[in-house]
Order: sequence, then structure tokens, then C-alpha cells
Amino acid sequence: LSRDLQTLRNEPAQTPCGFPMGLYANTGLMSDITSSLASGCDGIGLHRTEFPFMVRERFPGEDEQTVVYRQVLEPFVPRPVVLRTLDVGGDKPLPYFPVREENPFLGWRGIRLTLDHPEIFLTQLRAMLRANADCGNLRILLPMISRVQEVDETRVLLDRAREELAEEGLEVAMPQLGVMVEVPSAVYQADSLARRVDFLSIGSNDLTQYLLAVDRNNSRVAGLYDELHPAVLQAVRQVVEAGERNNCHVSVCGAMAGDPASAILLLGLGVHGLSMSVSSLLKVKWVIRSFTRQQATSLLEEALTLENPADVRRLLNRALEQAG
Ligand code: PEP
Ligand code: MG
Repeated sequence: LSRDLQTLRNEPAQTPCGFPMGLYANTGLMSDITSSLASGCDGIGLHRTEFPFMVRERFPGEDEQTVVYRQVLEPFVPRPVVLRTLDVGGDKPLPYFPVREENPFLGWRGIRLTLDHPEIFLTQLRAMLRANADCGNLRILLPMISRVQEVDETRVLLDRAREELAEEGLEVAMPQLGVMVEVPSAVYQADSLARRVDFLSIGSNDLTQYLLAVDRNNSRVAGLYDELHPAVLQAVRQVVEAGERNNCHVSVCGAMAGDPASAILLLGLGVHGLSMSVSSLLKVKWVIRSFTRQQATSLLEEALTLENPADVRRLLNRALEQAG
């Protein structure tokens, strides 16, 4: 099967009825960039910027970050590259910036930490803008958004970064800005968020964790963690509908995007893009090329009537088997 999948590498990710689905790579390490380039993906849908911060003994400076971001952006020009701002805290601690909390997943993580430290945030935003000066394919994504003020405050900092650079003689274009929808409050405020940004990216890993109150890394409750839980599907549907109402691009970048069964439902929902680990790309491309929108929508409608994740999984696995 994997050899058959290889033949899909240069084929378009399009349904038999002609609906195109953007397929993007999730990256973090430099080695991911190399493999993504070879994969024939449409760009990078999520680049986690934490690694250069985790392997050093201090925060990397603006010049260091600029070099790293340019190495990510440049090989993909003109394909888009989504750089996510620092998402430390929670499951991603920094050794030189210890944060001790009873509930790190509900604590000082992602956008909360960077907004409280504008000097860290501004350095990263300036480095991203500088790296984009001769690439032009940058998109910026904000993690762990749980209130609209976080977007507004980030805009102020982003404008400031751009003005500072202009004063220093470097005129840069403003990149598209997007937010992760990975906290339940963001689902309920998806309309307000969609009005403020260019794209929404559903982070199904954290969204599943927070909707179901199941720690994504705790093996004892791993059996309860399921992105095909009807509550997760309803949440994703609400976000997609909010995106449509506000003319805002919606994609998914959690593990759900790389799961063939879930991909059928996301196709049925009308999600525009899926971003996943490179190893899942061809499998998901096969799914997109095997199901019409109509078939995916019928399966979605049936799935939305089911009450148990296991029943949803069974329905989709049957459809996958029938498709070959
Ligand atoms: C997510 O939460 O779904 C996501 C893509 O981000 P991360 O896994 O880095 O938290
Ligand atoms: Mg997340």
C-alpha cells in the first residue's frame, strides 16, 4: 500500500468531484523542513517555533531567530509558511525559564506568557517580519487564544514591530494573521475572532483535551481522549460555520487532520486546509481523492446523529474499507 501511495506524491489533493483541499505539513525541526519539501505539500500549516528556544540555555536573540525563520520560509517560497508564536508552558517547558504551577495546562502558557513579556514577544515578531522581508510567504499564528483582547493586544505589538523596523529603514509587508482555535471559549467566540483575523486554525489536540477534560498526555485516561467525540465534531462544525459567515479561512492543524477517518468528516464540513505530520500526508491525500464532497457530507450527517465516539469510528472505518 505505501508503494501505491507514493504514486500520489505529484497528484493534486482534489476530490473526484473537483473540490481542492490544501494539504500542509506540521514542522518544528530543520529535518522536518527537508522531508516536507520532498513531500509535495502545499506549504507549512504549522511551524512550532519552540525548539530553538528549548535547546538553548537562554532566549535566542533577534538575529538568531531571524536566521532560523528565514531557513524555514525561504525553501517554500511562494508556498505559504505559518509560523506560530512561542507556545511554551503546559507540555512545553523551557529549562531556563521555570514556571511552577499546580495546573500547567490551565496556567501561564502560549499567548498568555508572551503578552506578559512584551520584550520576548516583540523580539520574536520583529525576527519573523525581518525573515519575511525577502520571502513574502509568512503567516503568523497565535496559540492558546481564549479571549479576543489577546488578538487586539497582539495587533498593537505587531504594528509596533513593523513601525520600529520601518524607522530602522526596513519596510516590511504585514503578513496574514491567524489564531489557533484550541480552547472552548474560542469556539464560542469564533465569529468575533474570525472578524479580527485572516484565518482560523483548529488545534484539535488541545481542543479535545479541554472539551473533554482529558489530559492529552495521561495514559490512564487515554481511552477517553477521542477527537471523534460528538462534542468535538460539533465544536469543529461551529468554527467552520463561523469562518464561512465571516469569510475567514478555516483549517485544522491537530492530529485530527492527519487521521484518515477524521479527514472524511473535515472534508464533509468544508474545511479548506489540513496540516499534519509529513508521514500522514499521502494517506490523507488518498482519502481526499477517494471521496466526493457529497459522500463526505452524507457520512458527516450520519456521524452527527451518533452519540458515541466508537460508533463514529466504526462508521468511518467501514467507509474507508469500502473505498479500498
Ligand atoms: C493542537 O493543540 O492541536 C496543536 C496543533 O498544537 P500543539 O500540539 O503544539 O499544542
Ligand atoms: Mg495546542
